[in-house]
Amino acid sequence: MYNLETSVKDHDESRQGEALILEANTEKNNGRKLYIESYGCAMNFSDSEIVASIMTNMGFETTSDYKEADVIFINTCSIRENAEVRVRNRLKEFGAVKNKKPGMMVGVLGCMAERLKSKFLEEEKLVDLVIGPDAYRDLPGLIDQVDDGNRAVNVLLSREETYADISPVRLNSNGITAFISIMRGCDNMCSFCVVPFTRGRERSRDAHSIVNEAIDLYAHGYKEVTLLGQNVDSYKWESEDKLERVNFASLLELVANIGPDLRVRFSTSHPKDITDEVLYTMAKYDNICKYIHLPVQSGSSRVLDIMNRTYDREWYMERVQSIRRIMPDCAISTDVIIGFCTETEEEHAETLSMMEYVKYDFAYMFMYSERPGTLAAKRFTDDITEEVKKRRFNEVISLQQKHSHERLLEQLGQTQRILIENFSKKSKLDYSGRNDKNATVVFPVDARYQPGEYVDVLIERCTPATLIGRII
Ligand code: SAM
Ligand code: SF4
Repeated sequence: MYNLETSVKDHDESRQGEALILEANTEKNNGRKLYIESYGCAMNFSDSEIVASIMTNMGFETTSDYKEADVIFINTCSIRENAEVRVRNRLKEFGAVKNKKPGMMVGVLGCMAERLKSKFLEEEKLVDLVIGPDAYRDLPGLIDQVDDGNRAVNVLLSREETYADISPVRLNSNGITAFISIMRGCDNMCSFCVVPFTRGRERSRDAHSIVNEAIDLYAHGYKEVTLLGQNVDSYKWESEDKLERVNFASLLELVANIGPDLRVRFSTSHPKDITDEVLYTMAKYDNICKYIHLPVQSGSSRVLDIMNRTYDREWYMERVQSIRRIMPDCAISTDVIIGFCTETEEEHAETLSMMEYVKYDFAYMFMYSERPGTLAAKRFTDDITEEVKKRRFNEVISLQQKHSHERLLEQLGQTQRILIENFSKKSKLDYSGRNDKNATVVFPVDARYQPGEYVDVLIERCTPATLIGRII
């Protein structure tokens, strides 16, 4: 079956609420246990690794069981209301344990902490610590404050913080694929979006620290890195003496040159910023995966205008044409918002016709959820009824299911280079990996090859969401 759950909910549904486990730092062990779980986008999971790195340096040991923790951290997401509801429910579960274990510390991290600030302490009595995404270096001081019997808050946003010098520890990863955060924040102010308020101004991380992190991962056997940012195409870094200037195309090139066996992916591209220079760089390197996540949000120029996306339907179509011209076989995925304020039936039909035009390989689809404090919440009324939103949403989903399946069918009979990532979720007799286009491919285990190796797979059939083949 097509994985509806994954495509309509969040960026990686299988990881929501995942606990991060690290090897204890035996030299510094302070005898206290940390439980940290994360929600939302890949950026949050990457941040949790930074937090865990700071905490293990303080002597904390991680645990996968919150009931035995001394400190519980929940790294939160605010992007849609249901993401926040999920965190509130989880806090209730933590509260039940804390009632029996009063010395336990509960900290809320990330976007919800930033959005609600000290109001969180008023609303959720069990919370001791509220810390925004730019304040993690302050954790030792804040934990001391809580140890002294106070409640602590730091939600200051920064114009400079990129945590460039804190190497994230990735001990519970698969050792094959990793995310590298290349920038933080966002300056775009899309009217529906809470991110500029919760993550602050856009800033790019030192290019050397990014390349060094990728080199280090490669040296430790990693075979794929995904460069992460809210708008990677506006990555821009220059050295203090202004002699070195790196934009996203040149950063991609620097990372691609680390080794031909290191695959490079990136996310997210903004249609207004993705340049032909980036597309030509992708085309030039075999190890830069031919896959672009290009969120359209709506197919209607009027809706895009009130969303403040700063491109229109024609601009988006032109960008898609350029991708197809420069890389005819490049996969494209997208994000769609359904039922934004004042969206008419004709405008909804334009979103469907845009989907027909691009025939996306994959899409994340969301019903509009008004977020307090955003431009849309201030300027417009969330006037599309739930019933209409749901009907339009279902139309978008069924069209996307059809397109995703068609895109997979086109690949039957091809021999593709697959990076083996793991055993398949369903059977230890099968391996699972991804192709260049980011599609999941499942094939029988062959003892000559291990996870972390590349193999050539003949694609023989597919389900609506997965390619199936055999190693040749
Ligand atoms: N920076 C990326 C971009 O500009 O496309 C996306 C970042 S956002 C974390 C991921 C997706 O969440 C967005 O592309 C949008 O489709 C969706 N989203 C953001 N705010 C939303 C809202 N208020 N209601 C529904 N979906 C929303
Ligand atoms: Fe939000 Fe727009 Fe920034 Fe993406 S580009 S994070 S949708 S404001």
